Amino acid sequence: MTAFATTDTPLSEVLDAGLAERITTAFGHRTVGDLLHTLPRRYRQHGQRYDRRELVDGERVTIIGTVATAATRTYTTKQGQPREMLTLTVKDEDTTFKVVYFAGRRIKFMLPVGTVAMFDGTVSRFRQSLDLKHPEFLVLRSVAGPGGQLKGSGDLAALARLSAEIDAEGGPSLFDRPLLPIYSAKESVTSWDLLGAVVTAIRALVPVVDPLDDAVRQAAGLMGLDEALRKAHLPGCVEDADRAGHRLRFDEAIALQLLLGARRRFVARDPAPASPVRGDGVRAAMESRMPFELTAGQQTVLEEISADLTLDEPMNRLLQGEVGSGKTVVGLLAMLQVVDAGRQCVMLAPTEVLATQHHRSLTAMLGDLGERGRLGAADQATRVVLLTGSMSTAERRAALLDIVTGEAGIVVGTHALIQDSVDFFDLGLVVVDEQHRFGVRQRDRLRAKGRDGMVPHLLVMTATPIPRTIAMTVFGDLEVSELGELPGGRRPISTSVVPARDRPRWVERTWERVREEVGAGHRAYVVCARIDADTTDAPDGATKGGDDDRAGDRPPLVAAVELHQYLSTGPLAGLRIGLMHGRLPPEAKDATMTGFATGDLDVLVSTTVIEVGVDVPEATVMVVMDADRFGVSQLHQLRGRVGRGGLPGLCLLVTNSREGGKAMERLNAVAATTDGFLLAQLDLVQRREGDVLGDAQSGALASLRLLSVVDDGEVIEIARRHAEEILDSDPGLDTHPALAERVRRLSGSDESDYLFKY
Ligand code: ADP
Ligand code: MG
Repeated sequence: MTAFATTDTPLSEVLDAGLAERITTAFGHRTVGDLLHTLPRRYRQHGQRYDRRELVDGERVTIIGTVATAATRTYTTKQGQPREMLTLTVKDEDTTFKVVYFAGRRIKFMLPVGTVAMFDGTVSRFRQSLDLKHPEFLVLRSVAGPGGQLKGSGDLAALARLSAEIDAEGGPSLFDRPLLPIYSAKESVTSWDLLGAVVTAIRALVPVVDPLDDAVRQAAGLMGLDEALRKAHLPGCVEDADRAGHRLRFDEAIALQLLLGARRRFVARDPAPASPVRGDGVRAAMESRMPFELTAGQQTVLEEISADLTLDEPMNRLLQGEVGSGKTVVGLLAMLQVVDAGRQCVMLAPTEVLATQHHRSLTAMLGDLGERGRLGAADQATRVVLLTGSMSTAERRAALLDIVTGEAGIVVGTHALIQDSVDFFDLGLVVVDEQHRFGVRQRDRLRAKGRDGMVPHLLVMTATPIPRTIAMTVFGDLEVSELGELPGGRRPISTSVVPARDRPRWVERTWERVREEVGAGHRAYVVCARIDADTTDAPDGATKGGDDDRAGDRPPLVAAVELHQYLSTGPLAGLRIGLMHGRLPPEAKDATMTGFATGDLDVLVSTTVIEVGVDVPEATVMVVMDADRFGVSQLHQLRGRVGRGGLPGLCLLVTNSREGGKAMERLNAVAATTDGFLLAQLDLVQRREGDVLGDAQSGALASLRLLSVVDDGEVIEIARRHAEEILDSDPGLDTHPALAERVRRLSGSDESDYLFKY
């Protein structure tokens, strides 16, 4: 074992080989730096009190207390062996624990009355008593008085030896420290193993060079790295621990922001197809015949986008807006501006149904402006082409021909399809609809589709508001525009929870409401979490697992096929009811959707294939069955499908969840507000980032250890500012080699290779 270590020194050179190996296997840490960059889960404060009412059965506790009484009792094991059971009462400030060792003969000599010791084990509650059975222990002050040897059991014994070593060197005694770190343990590596490893590593660690300039450190009020690495583990006070943790999180944040900033700059260097606004083009023609005025919000956003498109630098913009806030129109006008410059646009939808719907509504909005090549088309006309996987070979070939020759000004399809196999004549703008998980990789692939090395402009539209911190990390290289209001004085829809288990009558009332709406000439959606009784899980995008209901304790999920049957012959008999789900052939889906849109159907029973973007203005009710199976954002998007035509909308969330449970709480939150941003935040807190980031959580984000995009918004913002400043003066990070190294590590070689070639 070496006496000196840097953060790059392998653990095996610093620690006992067995321990090093166990730590590597359990946590993946290979170097001293890996180990020290893992923060304690919490700190055990000297004299910290446990509130005995709050301690739960099975909770792991570490107590430091005085042995008040000790009693032994002899008993015989089943195997006939005599044993001594040792029972201690240990007083910790104001709580008394009962500590029991079944084989306590040796131990009783180490823990006589008056001994101060640390005990680490699991609590069990028995009547009024808090029991610790066989806790590991460490004698901190033996009754023999000062100079008495530290003795301990289990992992604490190893720590005791280390502590004795430190004491012998005259260092501040390990167990006299005001705060003792407690680490997240694994079965093979205890918190005490980790503490021992960390203390050993810190003792060997030579002062660590700080990658941040003094200027940045001072401006951001940061502790030095060397100090932070030590104090994160062995803080003198709570404030030390906080500041140390903050510094280490900041390091991750700034590396991430440097990566994103470098990428943004890299992308901005590519030429993009400048597309100035023309007074005589198809955009102008469309604007002059729009059936409504753009809202002030739409105008502002369109101006922002318009200005970006005129530049020869690629636009990277995220357009956020509530469902129904009128993003599609904005997207269309942006596309027409690019078409006016002689280039093509593509609109990507998450599903085929949505692509088809977009194609239909864009074509309808454009009228003869979209009929290029046909007799009677307007002069400036363009052509809108649909590309889906379910088209016949001939249709597909015709579409691809239009795309490659440039006949098609606007191409609509799913992104899987277009990203892989389509060549454009001259692609100027990519509009991505309702795909907030559109990550860096997907974007990079589309960047390559432009003509002559040009990079197409990009507009991502989403109704799932992305909290600012996420926008700054996942979309760290996107500008953000927001659409706040709903057009046309439309009222937000009202939402109610229908607790089917507790109030079956309300379910009947739900179907009566549907009848009433249909009677008034309106239409209704009924959404189910699964297709039929054979599908075990939610196949069409519903989230898995109700979170507070045990399986078996609740009725099976309502299936679309069965419900369609039941409603048709039962509560909604006589109404025209369509059925739609992902396993139907495309023609059937299309026919059903068209039927519902035109009014040939009154009710549409469906899975979440209709989730986003479908626009049927006459639809006024949405019933969601097993609503607890859907995420907050998903429910918010679903209900955005109703109340789009100036009629008040109603959303009924049917659930078998219990009153007072987590799922019910979530549904009540959805019912209580239509503020998408609030809901997005809620969603984020409930699902944590892994889920929210989805595909976008590639490479860099996956390797964040300490930083949480949910909790560390402020750190991320400050780091971003400093990252920008650093890149402004040193875009290649040439004078910041240590930072460059961190960014490289964070991103993995595949990404950073191209980033720093200036
Ligand atoms: P989003 O895509 O943001 O959910 P859409 O673009 O589909 O919203 O718009 C929802 C509905 O509102 C559509 O029927 C659209 O025609 C209509 N709409 C859009 N902008 C306006 C406006 N400024 N005034 C009136 N109606 C509008
Ligand atoms: Mg839309």
